[in-house]
Amino acid sequence: MHTDILVIGTGISGLTYAIKLAEKSPATKITLICKQQLDEGNTRYAQGGIAVVSNFKKDTFDKHIMDTYIAGDYQGDKEVIDFVIREGNDRLNELIDWGTQFDKKENNRLDLTKEGGHSEKRIVHFKDHSGAEIQRALIQKVKEFQNIQYFENHILVDLITDHHTKTNHQTCYGAYIISTLDEEIIKITAQITVLSTGGLGQLYDFTTNPAGATADGLGAAYRAKAFLEKLPFVQFHPTALFPKVNGETFLITEALRGEGAILKNHLGEAFMEKYHPSKDLAPRDIVARSIIQEIKTQKSKHVYLDATNIKAKVLLNHFPYIVENCQSVGINPLEDLIPVIPAAHYSCGGIKVDENSSTTLKGLYAIGECSHTGLHGANRLASNSLLESIVFSHRAAIKTCVDLENNPLEKDFYLKVPDWKGQSYTSTNPAKQTQDLRKQLCKIMNEDVGIFKTTQGLINAQKQVKQLYFDIVQLYNNNKLSPQICELRNMVSVAYVMVNQSLILTQNNGVFYNHDYATNPIL
Ligand SMILES: Cc1cc2nc3c(=O)[nH]c(=O)nc-3n(C[C@H](O)[C@H](O)[C@H](O)COP(=O)(O)OP(=O)(O)OC[C@H]3O[C@@H](n4cnc5c(N)ncnc54)[C@H](O)[C@@H]3O)c2cc1C
Repeated sequence: MHTDILVIGTGISGLTYAIKLAEKSPATKITLICKQQLDEGNTRYAQGGIAVVSNFKKDTFDKHIMDTYIAGDYQGDKEVIDFVIREGNDRLNELIDWGTQFDKKENNRLDLTKEGGHSEKRIVHFKDHSGAEIQRALIQKVKEFQNIQYFENHILVDLITDHHTKTNHQTCYGAYIISTLDEEIIKITAQITVLSTGGLGQLYDFTTNPAGATADGLGAAYRAKAFLEKLPFVQFHPTALFPKVNGETFLITEALRGEGAILKNHLGEAFMEKYHPSKDLAPRDIVARSIIQEIKTQKSKHVYLDATNIKAKVLLNHFPYIVENCQSVGINPLEDLIPVIPAAHYSCGGIKVDENSSTTLKGLYAIGECSHTGLHGANRLASNSLLESIVFSHRAAIKTCVDLENNPLEKDFYLKVPDWKGQSYTSTNPAKQTQDLRKQLCKIMNEDVGIFKTTQGLINAQKQVKQLYFDIVQLYNNNKLSPQICELRNMVSVAYVMVNQSLILTQNNGVFYNHDYATNPIL
């Protein structure tokens, strides 16, 4: 198949980009693919909302810029922070024009809330399921365009590059894709390929990310020789419900602490005041480390979040999804303490991109959580990632129009791209082995590459992940390719890069914490 534009991933980034481009360039054929259904990805699970300066009476761009820079431990790119925050309000209005509903006050103005690290109320939200509402509206909008087609249940295997075409343009020409239904591998060539494949949370045992967040875009970009940056900066959300619900870790939004919920240990003590003057609304990395410290001291499996001091009306109206999920496991947040534990939540690092989301490979863009733009520095400010996605999708769509006019390759060139070359198989049913290898990888990541790291732990992890990498390459070479093997191959590559990049860092910033460099057990 040939298409003008191939977009891999249909969260907020891929969908916004496709809508923008389809509006600007109706003759351009855009093909979207996604792993599962169109609406499945991290976007759907976002609870809090989008951080945007919209109340210009109280808030200013400068305040949001400063909050972002401080949360990122002064490591963010100042220019990027500046334009993302200034462009945010226009992009938010587009989401609203496309049909997204956000909560409003009686005077019809947006109802803004506050989250940790924000100096003003600026989070635009829809109850406690903002992401699902955004995803719904974007999918509805995408379906209006004749020039957008989409394929669900199709997984990126590898990007097509000069390695496949035996050319030397340092260009991406599309991708090989595996269908999850019949495991057939197809070739889709494209003038422009966009990775919007989301996060990597599944590298860890406890993660707020859904099952599909297996770092696929990053793994494929790495094999295609695009640069990956800042991978050690994985943000752990302090409060996920413990234990898992139906095998998945459920997030308890920070907005609950914004409304007054308090973290308590097994002795019933509110412990955050021991660790930070902002107590329960201290930066996420500090809260997460404080919780782990309490868990270790008390030899417990979790701590508690006490939301019983929040009015029942507020809990039921603003957090219906959280109340429902807690009740499904027998916890009533109106009366009971909620058991919580930190969980891998957001990748601040990713595929290196410029101010238009172009990667270092011609014809390849990366947008959203799989990219590294420089906005978040060493720690993402709450609700800044949906903002980053809409701003960079817009910029990438504008730049794509320029690229399409300047593409020097003839259409015939794409006909010469070879089909996927199958492997010679010795076995066809490695499901158990694939699962075991994945468990081993997660165990190493949890133990040595989690919230608290040490240099010796990282050295151990490097050795073990390297061995796993060879085992997984063998698994890949000797078996019929399956979606599970694709995911594992990506996960191990990204884990390896993350461990190596962690070992190069010589100081602690934001979410990266190596105990050997610390002067304080938490900060
Ligand atoms: C529980 C939770 C709560 C959050 N709350 C907030 C919040 O309140 N505010 C905020 O700003 N951010 C929040 N975030 C972060 C934010 O939701 C994500 O960073 C953002 O949605 C990422 O959007 P995306 O489009 O880049 O990727 P995603 O929405 O994750 O979409 C990824 C897409 O890529 C597809 N895909 C992945 N791999 C492949 C493959 N190999 N082949 C084909 N398709 C593939 C998936 O199917 C999916 O369509 C939250 C995240 C989580 C998990």
